[in-house]
Amino acid sequence: MLPEILTVAEEYGITFNPRYLGKKETLCKCTFCEEDSKPGKGSKYYLSLNTQDQVYKCWYCGVSGGVLDFEAKLSGISYNKVREKYFGKRKKPVHPAESLNTHQLRLIGWAEYKRNDRYEFKMNRESVLRDWKSYEHGELVKHFALFMVVAHIENQAERQNELLQYVIQSCHKTQIYLLFNRLLAEYMKDEEERTSWAKEGTEIGRAAWKVSLSTYDFRMEKVVCNVVFLYHLLVMDQMKTPIKAGCKKEIVVNDKMSFAN
Ligand SMILES: [Zn+2]
Repeated sequence: MLPEILTVAEEYGITFNPRYLGKKETLCKCTFCEEDSKPGKGSKYYLSLNTQDQVYKCWYCGVSGGVLDFEAKLSGISYNKVREKYFGKRKKPVHPAESLNTHQLRLIGWAEYKRNDRYEFKMNRESVLRDWKSYEHGELVKHFALFMVVAHIENQAERQNELLQYVIQSCHKTQIYLLFNRLLAEYMKDEEERTSWAKEGTEIGRAAWKVSLSTYDFRMEKVVCNVVFLYHLLVMDQMKTPIKAGCKKEIVVNDKMSFAN
């Protein structure tokens, strides 16, 4: 059965305008554009939920759709997975590229393509999936590296917590399902036991840690910048010499190198 849009909104902690609660149209803060959360806009509520038709629309950014799509967007879970949650499994298996939601497709540059021509999109499903996998791999590596750096900070509990919050937020933005949980699971393993992306992340994290230590600069934007930079070094390196199985790669970082200035 189709879920109630209000219940879904409540589940994801959406802020309602109390004046509209229980009405056919419920207004609330838009978590997609967050325009109504900007300073001075406390009294504005741009996201409208229609509790009769179970549809939503933001009067500011224009995002709109049905309740299943709403839950998919809020959770980062694909539309098909959400549908499955309420209606059970489809008989015919869907191609993984088809279960990527609009947010996810936008991140890899395929959203508009799908909207414009579904048939063409279908023909290019393998490329879409390849792009998603490569995006996912990159984000996993970078976030793992970031997490490693944060995990190694000692004697600065407040700073560490602040950085951790950043990492969690950033994980959500990637639209990769359970990304943070996957980081944690890999972190708990011994280094040799980790999957390949976590191993790459470990190397980058280690190098980024060295840079931060040498400059004693643990500001998040600096750490992120180092991680991204080092990741691209690694990618360029891999393009030059494909890694053979079991061959350990070492990222060389000049300790005097400063990315700061
Ligand atoms: Zn909006």
